[in-house]
Amino acid sequence: MPASSGKKVGVIGAGMVGVCAASYLQRQGHEVFMLEAGKPGHGASFGNAGAFNASSVTPVSMPGMMWNVPRWLFDPLGPLSLRWRYLPVVAPWLIRFIRAGTLEKVHAQARALRPLVGATLDALMPLVRDAGAEDLVHCLGHLYVYRSPHGPQKERLAWELRQENGVQIDEFDADELRQLEPTLARDFVRGILVRENGHTSNPLGLVERLLGQFLRSGGELVRARAFGFDLADGRLAAIRTDTGDLPADAAIVCAGAWSRPLAATLGDRIPLETERGYHLMICDPEVMPRIPTADAEGKFVATPMESGLRFAGTVELAGLTAPPDWRRARILLDQGRRMLPGLAAHYTEDRISMWMGHRPSLPDSLPVIGPSRATPDVIYAFGHGHVGMTAAPMTGKLVADLVVGRPPAIDITPFAPARFA
Ligand SMILES: Cc1cc2nc3c(=O)[nH]c(=O)nc-3n(C[C@H](O)[C@H](O)[C@H](O)COP(=O)(O)OP(=O)(O)OC[C@H]3O[C@@H](n4cnc5c(N)ncnc54)[C@H](O)[C@@H]3O)c2cc1C
Repeated sequence: MPASSGKKVGVIGAGMVGVCAASYLQRQGHEVFMLEAGKPGHGASFGNAGAFNASSVTPVSMPGMMWNVPRWLFDPLGPLSLRWRYLPVVAPWLIRFIRAGTLEKVHAQARALRPLVGATLDALMPLVRDAGAEDLVHCLGHLYVYRSPHGPQKERLAWELRQENGVQIDEFDADELRQLEPTLARDFVRGILVRENGHTSNPLGLVERLLGQFLRSGGELVRARAFGFDLADGRLAAIRTDTGDLPADAAIVCAGAWSRPLAATLGDRIPLETERGYHLMICDPEVMPRIPTADAEGKFVATPMESGLRFAGTVELAGLTAPPDWRRARILLDQGRRMLPGLAAHYTEDRISMWMGHRPSLPDSLPVIGPSRATPDVIYAFGHGHVGMTAAPMTGKLVADLVVGRPPAIDITPFAPARFA
């Protein structure tokens, strides 16, 4: 329903979160413009695993996880790496991260995340239908596979958190797994399928289609970098950008991993870090799983994409400016071959592409969604970490609620920016 008095709203950042926020605001009758410093959809939303996992309620920092960290750090195929030079910078974030992983806290984080991610497809599909992008979104579930029959048991807490929050699962033994995904290596002996999950076969394409619909519906895209806000008597007057001030009644900060300095201009010190991740894609692969499949122990995902097979995952703590370490992406190819032995032993470089992206991550695995401390007119919507594609559609709805002062559709107290004060 259109708002009775539409506002002029600037959405900073044209990633998945930004386009969902802009689309929902526009549907409410506001005059919306998006601000993008680079190319729309070319941030973290470009090359992720494409999963819309309604079941993604498990925080990254979990009880006991720290015992695995030394092994992961020293394993060249391990899912975590740290540039030691970056350690002094990231140390305060790491301390908060470790503190966030108590049993009590992870239960609370999972409860907070479920309404944000659980309705992902319900919140996404109206936008997808408007944009004519149904061909890019698939509802086939998400498969987790294990090499040990005790694998799921080792991740018992993660599965408990999912099930406590209403996630339904189907378990498969080795034979059933073979029938479900014949391309998988025979040493996978357990599988868990979460049927309610979906995925996109082209994350960038999806952002671009949603953006296209936003523009066709009268929205505007401004190519500029926002660097601050002009306030008058505690109300927003304009967004400051490198091409001049842009008058606005409200601003939404959806600048992903680059949001921290914008919040700092309003006095909010948000401990936003980037967990860098990589993908490696094989064009025209010999085999491809039908369903997105996570090697639960290797901590990477194989997703069937429009343009080939994508292996995505790994966490690298090295900040926003260090160059990519492409060995991290090549590791995914080694692991992918172990998952899908039908892949070729060698690929020429023209069949392979690699990417590095910046997950915008808060230490407690929850995003920041809510107004700034300086003014109710600037609303934060960033820090979605590993689940930003999934959480973006509901975040967009919440932002549209907040702009008109409507009670948000779900409890956003756990996402309050002030929780770090
Ligand atoms: C390897 C990997 C796999 C992943 N897999 C999944 C998955 O399967 N499912 C899932 O849900 N999530 C996944 N994620 C996480 C997900 O990709 C991110 O959480 C999500 O894309 C973040 O979206 P965003 O819109 O907040 O940020 P981004 O997509 O990074 O967009 C932010 C935009 O803001 C722009 N910007 C920055 N600063 C400014 C400024 N000052 N002014 C104007 N514009 C600015 C940037 O140029 C950028 O375009 C994965 C991430 C990685 C790295």
